[in-house]
This record gives sequence, structure tokens and C-alpha cells, in this order.
Amino acid sequence: MAVNLSAYQHITGELSSFGASLVAVSKIKPASDIMQLYNAGQRIFGENYVQELLEKQGVLPGDIQWHFIGHLQSNKVKYIAPFVSMIHGIDSGKLLLEISKQGIKNQRRIDCLLQIHIAEEETKFGLNEDELNELLATLAQSPDKFAGVRICGFMGMATNTDNEAQISKEFHQLKQLFERIKAAHFANEDSFKELSIGMSGDYKLALESGATLVRIGSMLFGARNYNK
Ligand SMILES: *Cc1c(COP(=O)(O)O)cnc(C)c1O
Repeated sequence: MAVNLSAYQHITGELSSFGASLVAVSKIKPASDIMQLYNAGQRIFGENYVQELLEKQGVLPGDIQWHFIGHLQSNKVKYIAPFVSMIHGIDSGKLLLEISKQGIKNQRRIDCLLQIHIAEEETKFGLNEDELNELLATLAQSPDKFAGVRICGFMGMATNTDNEAQISKEFHQLKQLFERIKAAHFANEDSFKELSIGMSGDYKLALESGATLVRIGSMLFGARNYNK
């Protein structure tokens, strides 16, 4: 299926009126699809699987900003640390520490978003508020250990439901948490500014709740076929 360039133009127009940026989620889709959006001007692409990201990064233009949005295993961080532009789904101190180690090894600070649990489902990854506070305390205690990462904000996924009021409520709660944590822990850090919420089905609600990054896949690239 071809890339939907008219949806791309429409979405980027909407996003720009909110000052938000698009992460085009290209998991499972071929490099040729990515090139179509690249040629239309898109530079930020999101991938979920390390091996697939490495293959694509090896053959695609060097000015693509790769965002890792999947569940990242600590033992795979080293493969993407040299080039990844942002990692969205950090939900443990152990993972953050490993990313920092690899960042230091590569002489860079890797931009990171902490994933916060906002959905009703138990199955979705993410930190609850206690775990978040614990992680922030660890960060404050040993800043040297975390010199290889820069905390740029939060990522969240709403409940998978048609109930828009529910989704909006979850996004708003995350926005409020973001503002509180920013004031308390990152008041002097300009880089703490990103709220990565919203996918194809709920990005409009996310924009109204203050999203700065939306992660959109199927509206741009068509439905994904995992059994190919
Ligand atoms: C796949 C994925 C998306 C994109 O989902 P669509 O519904 O296809 O837009 C967004 N965020 C994450 C974390 C994903 O894994």
C-alpha cells in the first residue's frame, strides 16, 4: 500500500498550528515507504524494534532523526546509542542507567522521555507516580551516573477505547503531572519540554491536551501486517 501523502500534508498542517512535531511511526514498513515521506519533507521517524531500526538506519539518509518508541531491553541499548535521536519509552532506573552508560561511552547525552502509566489497562508499560518520584530521587542523588542522558519530558499511551472523554482525561492528567514535575525538578532546564502523547486514533485529543510530539503510523503508512 502506498504512503498517504495527503494525510501527511493534512496532519502536519494541524500539528503546526499547535506547535507540535510529528514522529512518523514506520515499524514493519519498508525503507521505500520511509523515503516517500522523507522526500515530502519528513525527518523524524519512530521505530519499535532494534534490529529493524539498525537495518533501516544503515541504508537511509543520515539526516533522519530516529526516535526509538518501543519497549527497549537494556542489553540492546548499545546498538542504537551512537545515533538514536530520542528514546521514548523509559520505564525503569535500570534502563535509564544503561542508556546513560552508553551515552557516556559515545561521548553524547541521549535525549530520553520517561514513560508514565496513564491507561486503565494493566498491560501497558510505564511508571506510576511513586516509581517516577523514586527514579527522580535516584537521578538527583547521583547526577554523574546519569551524565549520558538528558530527560526531555514524558511519554504516555491512553487506554485503548472509543470513549474520548476517558482518553482526554488521561492525557490531561499527564499534562498536569508534567507541569508539576517540571516546576519541582526541571525548572531551570529548557530541555524538559516534550509531551509525547497521541497516535493515529487519538492525536487530536492529544493536541488539545498539550502534546508536543505525536506518534502516528497507520494513518500515514496504512495498516500494519505483522504476519507477512
Ligand atoms: C505503533 C505505535 C504507534 C503508532 O500507532 P498508530 O495507531 O499506527 O498511529 C505509536 N506509539 C507507539 C508506542 C507505537 O508502538
